Amino acid sequence: MALSTIFRGLKKSFRPEIPRKAVYRLSVYFRGLQRLKGNGIRTVSSEALAKAAGVKPTQLRKDLTYFGQFGTRGLGYDVEQLAEMISEVLGTTSLQPVVLAGVGNLGLALLSYRGFEKEGFEIIAAFDINAARHRGRAGAVAILPMEKLALLVRERNVKMAILTVPASAAQEVANALVQCGITGILNFAPLVLDVPETVVVNNVNLAIELENLSYFVQR
Ligand code: NAD
Repeated sequence: MALSTIFRGLKKSFRPEIPRKAVYRLSVYFRGLQRLKGNGIRTVSSEALAKAAGVKPTQLRKDLTYFGQFGTRGLGYDVEQLAEMISEVLGTTSLQPVVLAGVGNLGLALLSYRGFEKEGFEIIAAFDINAARHRGRAGAVAILPMEKLALLVRERNVKMAILTVPASAAQEVANALVQCGITGILNFAPLVLDVPETVVVNNVNLAIELENLSYFVQR
């Protein structure tokens, strides 16, 4: 039986708790493995995969211990099997539905991006306090009033949301998202959201990233 099948069979509560930074690295390993697979490479050494991911081999080996004993000494890792296991852990083996709240400049730009589906995510609907406002390039995704959020999230069992409303409305909208069952929020609003412990918020702030770059380019 494939290791990934065994892993899938484990109840979530028995799966190892993987630290957040290591989860980010799994995404990087996954992309490296996809590239190798695309080039017809079937096995990879930890050194080569670590190099492709920009981490030290010791870091990679440590991260992969969350999967138990894996990899064959001298041969390395089976590319396909490792990619499958990582995808299983990340919950991206099937297309995941996502909703977006706040269809303004940023929301609209994200809605028009066609690349999410090939990464395993589908924005199935967008919500806005002013859903009827004319938007030039909304694409195929329906823009619905906030009143329809709860029904759609429950019906489609959506767990993730992208939050692109102004900071002044972000907490209120986050509350509405959590109340209807969203447990993961990708927050673009410049505000620290107050959410229950069971909800994970990932903040995206380009200004912080630029500030960080600014520090390094001065040296
Ligand atoms: P915008 O004003 O163009 O759009 C905001 C949208 O939210 C509007 O369509 C508005 O109708 C809707 N909205 C307002 N209140 C709402 C509510 N209570 N419920 C539902 N919808 C509501 O703003 P923008 O330029 O698209 O920016 C959106 C957010 O993203 C802001 O918080 C901004 O600060 C942030 N932002 C973050 C980054 C980043 O790097 N993280 C970059 C740009 C913008």
